[in-house]
Amino acid sequence: MAKLKIAELFYSIQGEGRYMGVPSVFLRTFGCNFKCAGFGMPKGELSQEANNIDATKYTDYKMLPLVSTGCDSYASWDPRFKDLSPMLETDSIVDSIMDMLPNKRWSDEHLVITGGEPLLGWQRGYVDLLSHENMKGLQELTFETNGTQSLHQDLRFFLNKWCVSRSMGSITFSVSPKLSISGEKWEDAICPEVIYEYSQVGHTYLKFVVATNEDMEEAEEAVNAYRKRGFRGNVYLMPCGGVERVYNLNNRAVAEMAMRKGWRYSDRLQVPLFKNEWGT
Ligand code: SF4
Repeated sequence: MAKLKIAELFYSIQGEGRYMGVPSVFLRTFGCNFKCAGFGMPKGELSQEANNIDATKYTDYKMLPLVSTGCDSYASWDPRFKDLSPMLETDSIVDSIMDMLPNKRWSDEHLVITGGEPLLGWQRGYVDLLSHENMKGLQELTFETNGTQSLHQDLRFFLNKWCVSRSMGSITFSVSPKLSISGEKWEDAICPEVIYEYSQVGHTYLKFVVATNEDMEEAEEAVNAYRKRGFRGNVYLMPCGGVERVYNLNNRAVAEMAMRKGWRYSDRLQVPLFKNEWGT
């Protein structure tokens, strides 16, 4: 039986993108190929906020401090916090999921596999997880990804069959490509071939985290590169800000930018609703 290293497993409301407002189980795997220390920082500077947290003081993921700069999911990839994310067998993950569903079986809930970068290391484990008898009622599945990791052929083959076997089945790749606002490099982050590949398997859209007009122009450049490779999906702009103070500074401006471009606006409902606490 496969094992997955799980940073968080919780039931909440999807706050972003296509499924905003939908009751969802979030499976957050451990590990990421990026750091995104530029979020919330002046251009060219990197956040030290998570680095300054003393990892030895924490034995429970939920007790970790929230950060207002850098990656708001830092504990899902920073090796200093890896012991807070247990390796779990897929059977035990499915038991926990069933336990948290309101009717103890899938009905209108959707499953979000997120991270970290969920397509980095656990792809074959998802085949095992999603094949479990108790996962048969699941109809809607999203991978929240940074759009840099190709699909392993086993997962690609499985997902193609998964959809065919369900009359209402839907697979989504919610891709959040990292612009320079994140502190990551364009050549590492913008991978048109990978996005095109996802779009051949499931409903795929782009969701850019932005704060300024300059970010929006860079998003447009990235969209052009994806379109050139054949990507035809929707584009969302989402405000930067894992804490309310930062989110409130730019949410309206980002909504207006999206309107100007004829793109979609994605909120981050978990910020105003739940203050972006762990497990929301
Ligand atoms: S890709 Fe996502 S999880 Fe990884 S460092 Fe960036 S924001 Fe954090």
